Amino acid sequence: MNPEALLESLRTGLTPFLGLPALNTPAPVPGVVLGAPYDGGVINRPGARFGPWAIRNATMGMGRLSMPMRLQGQDEAGRGMAAVDWVDGGNIPTLPFSMEQALDAVQQTMAGWLAQGARTLMLGGDHLMTLGALRAHAAKHGPVGLLHLDAHSDAAHGEMWGAKYHHGTWLRQAIEEGLVDPRHTVQIGLRAPRFDSEELVFLLDAGVRMWTPWDLQDLRLDAQLKGDIARVGQRPAYVSVDLDVLDPAHCPAVAEPVPGGLTVMEVLTLLRNIHRWSAPWVGADIMELAPALEGSQTSAKAAAHIALQLF
Ligand code: MN
Ligand code: MN
Repeated sequence: MNPEALLESLRTGLTPFLGLPALNTPAPVPGVVLGAPYDGGVINRPGARFGPWAIRNATMGMGRLSMPMRLQGQDEAGRGMAAVDWVDGGNIPTLPFSMEQALDAVQQTMAGWLAQGARTLMLGGDHLMTLGALRAHAAKHGPVGLLHLDAHSDAAHGEMWGAKYHHGTWLRQAIEEGLVDPRHTVQIGLRAPRFDSEELVFLLDAGVRMWTPWDLQDLRLDAQLKGDIARVGQRPAYVSVDLDVLDPAHCPAVAEPVPGGLTVMEVLTLLRNIHRWSAPWVGADIMELAPALEGSQTSAKAAAHIALQLF
């Protein structure tokens, strides 16, 4: 948000993402930011429907040029400043009462922008909405590579309470629907205790690479991790960030906080590596921010996970 955009925001009371121009109909632009204010796929602690507003508000007064990119000399001012040409497409009209409608609205809205050649950055919303985004992207690009940052592997099998879809299932459906190429998929940050092992067996058999925080502590950003991330970028690639990949000390306001997570700096460092991809990413999202949950249960969750380790 440059000073002119900040002044506009102060005058109008409206806060588009980073002060980008607001544009509600698809147009030929390099990229579009879209909110997906739906959280009916959350199992336990809802509130991610308010994420798009909270993320936009948090960009008030923020500059647009990422400091690490300059320090690395990558594109110097170039790629960071290219984001200025993006627009904020507002929120996708998801209804809070209908999961089918919400998934369809994400897919249709995104398809309209993709047809104009735009890349997409979605502000969640719960993580199930990523399935709608991937349906739109795969229709254009074929099966995409996927860099997935999450405490959970999000590929639960079968039905939960008679329902097939929730925020812990989208990757299973994306692989089964052929939207994602599992051989070009890497998951980083997985650490949530599991109900059973079927999910991991399914993902590993499909060719997905997995990195837990323990792996990262042992190996840091070594050649193997960089190689795995590079595999994602061999296809048109999608980046999906579930904010619960972060340690609750850094980001407690998510539906399912899991202690033992990554730091903000570790995530920023991981994402820096995607500039080495053979082609730019085609879509990305930042999911599961539930701003009203700030601070809740952080300590109790830490205690529960330590108790589980003792158990
Ligand atoms: Mn998660
Ligand atoms: Mn998730």
